[in-house]
Amino acid sequence: MIKATALEQVVRLLGEMPGIGSKTAQRLAYYVLSRETAYAHQLGDALRELKDSLQWCRTCYNISAAEMCEICRQDERDHRLICVVEDAANLANIERSGGFKGYYHVLQGVLSPVNGIGPDDLRIQELLARLEDDQVTEIILATNPTVEGEATAMYLSDILADREVSVSRIGVGVPIGGSLDYCDEITMAKAFENRRRLH
Ligand SMILES: [Zn+2]
Repeated sequence: MIKATALEQVVRLLGEMPGIGSKTAQRLAYYVLSRETAYAHQLGDALRELKDSLQWCRTCYNISAAEMCEICRQDERDHRLICVVEDAANLANIERSGGFKGYYHVLQGVLSPVNGIGPDDLRIQELLARLEDDQVTEIILATNPTVEGEATAMYLSDILADREVSVSRIGVGVPIGGSLDYCDEITMAKAFENRRRLH
């Protein structure tokens, strides 16, 4: 087997990232090459550090520096509420808005049949396991108001239908087809205030 050169290796690895085609991967690799040596070293070190120092919270699957994330460690929050989000970035944005005082659950994706992502690829079983804790009374579905986010919310609503827990969906305020990443604080607060009960 011929050993891939470092350049080919970098292009291949970058090309595996979402939204990065082989052309872009090549362009990024050449860019790194064009920069001073320290840049490439810092990038490599930062990537290594990213994986070595961070992990998934074992409760909510948020990004965490410890076994349990900062939010799950805050005991004074409302134990009755779990807000379900797609990813850690959405969680951080809701948290920044300051309007939600319960706990979170990060699905780490959305249902996407075209991309081969089904229920087993998301942290759904882990969410159901958390409901065994009888303190939880409401699940707020805060996936993005996109086609896939809506489909995921509906799927969760269905499988939660026979559980002893009320289920709601974040309401108006979040623009349709929009992303929670671009939601300002007031809009986000409204979205929670106007959540509608699904069952
Ligand atoms: Zn957590």
